[in-house]
Amino acid sequence: MKVLLVEDDHPLAEALAEALRNVGVLVEIAPDGKTADFQVSVECYDAIILDLGLPDGNGVQWLSGWRARGMDLPVLILTARERWSDKAAGFSAGADDYVTKPFETAEVLLRLRALVRRSHGHAHPVITVGDLTLDTHTGRFTYLGMPVSLSAQEFRLLSYLIHAAPRIVSRTELSEHVYDQDQEPDSNVIDVQISRLRKKLDSDSIRTVRGQGYCLPGHPTAP
Ligand code: CA
Repeated sequence: MKVLLVEDDHPLAEALAEALRNVGVLVEIAPDGKTADFQVSVECYDAIILDLGLPDGNGVQWLSGWRARGMDLPVLILTARERWSDKAAGFSAGADDYVTKPFETAEVLLRLRALVRRSHGHAHPVITVGDLTLDTHTGRFTYLGMPVSLSAQEFRLLSYLIHAAPRIVSRTELSEHVYDQDQEPDSNVIDVQISRLRKKLDSDSIRTVRGQGYCLPGHPTAP
């Protein structure tokens, strides 16, 4: 999962980013609306965390502009304590959820995971495709009922594929959502990680579709 965090409070942004990175989320920080506006136009994110009080305008105004341009990413807004008017304005502008400052990072993570899951059309927090299951609440994979130990990048890769299943995901799309912008992976890196995942799971667990990309074989099933 790759997230844009729009927050001008530097210590708060760094603390939240670090907590999210510790659980394998890629986080880029934009300190103001203008930077965020540029970032959302050139980068692929899975969600946006948006502070409402920004130095160059209210987050609600920036969000309205993005929605007007057709940006349909899930947006989680950060609001000051108990300001119902802020929350209402945020929802009117197209926010999907909110957390109130001060917040627990665990709550931000849970809400983010739920937003991303729902944006892929999954109503239930547990996603199962074939023998592979992801519990989006705990962030853990099981294969044939057994826990699977994954590196952060392997987790992002497999997580992206299971959210997208049964759709075929191209290497370009994978690299945009699974790697940092300065990592610039070539397709070889992705191939290596896919083969490592196949060793951890099963050789048939991830299908290569020649010239198109990768997919998990099968449709998501309800638990
Ligand atoms: Ca602020």
